[in-house]
Amino acid sequence: MEQERMDIRSQTLEELTVLVEELGEKRFRAKQLYQWLHVHRAETFDEMTNLPKSLIGKLKAHTALTVLRQEAVQVSAIDGTRKYLFSLPDGNLIESVLMRYQHGNSVCISSQAGCRMGCRFCASAIGGLVRGLTPAEMAEQVYRIGRETGERISNIVVMGTGEPLDNYENLLRFLTMMTDENGLHISQRNITVSTCGIVPRIRQLADEKLQITLAISLHASNQKTRRELMPVAEKYDIPELLDACRYYFRQTGRRVTFEYSLVAGVNDSDAGAEELAKLLLGMNCHVNLIPVNPVKERNYRQPDRRRVHDFKNKLEKYGINVTIRREMGRDIDGACGQLRKRYMGSVDPGLHEDETDGGLG
Ligand code: SAH
Repeated sequence: MEQERMDIRSQTLEELTVLVEELGEKRFRAKQLYQWLHVHRAETFDEMTNLPKSLIGKLKAHTALTVLRQEAVQVSAIDGTRKYLFSLPDGNLIESVLMRYQHGNSVCISSQAGCRMGCRFCASAIGGLVRGLTPAEMAEQVYRIGRETGERISNIVVMGTGEPLDNYENLLRFLTMMTDENGLHISQRNITVSTCGIVPRIRQLADEKLQITLAISLHASNQKTRRELMPVAEKYDIPELLDACRYYFRQTGRRVTFEYSLVAGVNDSDAGAEELAKLLLGMNCHVNLIPVNPVKERNYRQPDRRRVHDFKNKLEKYGINVTIRREMGRDIDGACGQLRKRYMGSVDPGLHEDETDGGLG
């Protein structure tokens, strides 16, 4: 059986340098190749016109070039938000979103196909985990959207389907690629990674001392409510989680963001806001309130606007930094993961037709 091919868009520049030399070519070709993969965001080897034919032939023979295929896009008439459905080389489907802000374009990417964290309010949890995405598959979401719109992408949020810290090695490689000065060179400060709270991985990430923003999906002010909403809370309790966040701040100097999805009658009371304020008191942090996005399969409702504002005011009284998340693409909404869910089963899960050029085995 043929050995699995090297996924060329998942390699660092150093690794490409080793590869190019092994293939009997000059080292400087690695940098040219890296630029084709990560600056020009090439879809085929044949585009790489400044590489010698001999090298292109060897790359086609020995490596695979991951390219995502756009299956659908929904465009918001209100704010131009674009929600993409992509298929991966093995036919799995994922969602990504382009949001246009005053300060620049932000892409929200998926880190896994499906998710095994099981949060009760989340549409992505319903089908369970299929698999983690490769670094190339994460990068390709940014690249395809950049190429399709012809616009510069300045921010990345890892807040789509999946738990990024459950795909740790690939996530780190992706972050390295996005911020590499030989690639798109996105500033670390313009990247946010959101986690449901896998404590040992938060500590590990802190030790990498990156300047990225860590967002924690907290969603509750006490252990009992958090357990009801998020199975991960059975494994790590709130004090442990907040300790890991303090450690993250100490190691990186970066203020942590807490996401708090408000669910009517579950976690949106004034007493809840007070409890939350007391938990976070003295922490260098920011709270992002998100009225829960109703999911067809789940029974959760948004509080009314008054309640959301009262909750915010209560937190502010304790000196906590709070924002209410601006809803982007309201008209194309439906909770995260819903576009993918709707399409699952309706798209041929076979391999891409046009991938022979990329040499996928
Ligand atoms: N697994 C990571 C990142 C993906 S989810 C995490 O848990 O943080 C991105 C954010 O959307 C998380 O804060 C998640 O809790 C939230 N979310 C998921 N479904 C939601 C819904 N129906 N309404 C509001 N927020 C939701």
